[in-house]
Amino acid sequence: MRKNYFAKLLNYTKNVFKIEKSLSKLKDGRKNPTYKTAHVVLPVLIGFVIRIRSFNTLNNMMRENEFVNLLPRGMKLPKIDAIRDALKVVEIEGLRGMLTYQIRKARSNKVFENGTIDGYTVAAIDGTQTFNSDKKSCEKCLKALKKGKEAQRNFHNSVVISTIGNGAKVVLDFEPYRAGEDEAKKDEGELTAAKRLIQRFSSNNERLIDVVVYDAIACNSEWINTCNEASLETVVRVKNNNVDSIREIKKQVNKSTETAIWTDVGGYENIKVFEGTFKMNNVAKPLRFIKFLMKKPNGKRSQIMIITTCFEMDIRTLFKIIRARQDIENSIFHNLKTECGLEHCFVHGGNAIEAVLCLMFIASNYMQLFYHRRIKKSVKTQVELIRQFVKGLYLLKRTPELIFNTG
Ligand SMILES: [Zn+2]
Repeated sequence: MRKNYFAKLLNYTKNVFKIEKSLSKLKDGRKNPTYKTAHVVLPVLIGFVIRIRSFNTLNNMMRENEFVNLLPRGMKLPKIDAIRDALKVVEIEGLRGMLTYQIRKARSNKVFENGTIDGYTVAAIDGTQTFNSDKKSCEKCLKALKKGKEAQRNFHNSVVISTIGNGAKVVLDFEPYRAGEDEAKKDEGELTAAKRLIQRFSSNNERLIDVVVYDAIACNSEWINTCNEASLETVVRVKNNNVDSIREIKKQVNKSTETAIWTDVGGYENIKVFEGTFKMNNVAKPLRFIKFLMKKPNGKRSQIMIITTCFEMDIRTLFKIIRARQDIENSIFHNLKTECGLEHCFVHGGNAIEAVLCLMFIASNYMQLFYHRRIKKSVKTQVELIRQFVKGLYLLKRTPELIFNTG
């Protein structure tokens, strides 16, 4: 094998992201633990980098000593049950600190400097379910009655913010719905969690992103005001909507003539653009409403409507942004769900769900940043890169610089 990409990734996480130092700072609430928190978290993190589908797989890997070349001589990893127990009481702040450090480091290494879409750094928000069960529940479970049934459904949801567009798709932050605080009803619960997310994210990462794009559940004054207060521009998808001012502007724009016609853009024969400005109740500044009417070469038509606070922005850029927002479901979130087990419950109870999510995002970011910053030209797809990682792990030669020193 010419290059061991897994070894390269390990060097990257050690040298650029100081992973050993981050791991060694982690703590958890176990009494008299045999193993340090770092040794609990390390195999899980590596497992997520190579995209294990279950802790059972991780258990088999540990039993067969597959991580042996990463550990100081004589060091043993904990059993899978000890890992599960520790994740339930792990200090979330430490893990979140690893994610925050990643973002800060990526920023200082100029990952976001040229923007992700036409010079703007654009992020999207999406909600996702991370646990769902009729039987098991914990004190942090959200609860809802199953449709038309007596039985209760227990679940955990989170909202995630990630960069979209060109370059690495980096998960910037995430926020679980909090039981008791957030409504279990999907849209309301998601929106309140998303508001908390944006408030925290923007105060921790001033001016990191320019625009945040969100789907139709955020098409209301609550969301627009949250973004205005955070000094963030926003683009929001419009679908069927009860907001009076939006109904009104829709009507107006439908009667108007198009402000632009583009031909031969993004696989469409032509795209007509209709535009107007309006005021939404309870929002101080005016908003821009845009309708894109697209025609495919086969004659099929579709449309995308948005509202936005971006008055200065070129309309073609806005089109790219809302299209990238649709792509997010196909790329980053879909990827996390199908490839990284985002919806698979690895362990439940206490802090475990939040801890696992955080580790999944950290692992995904390492992979994304490594892929886009270091090796994109030599490996065609991320799926191939993961395959190379797995192979690399098995072929790893024991060398001092690859040993994890978290003591
Ligand atoms: Zn729960």
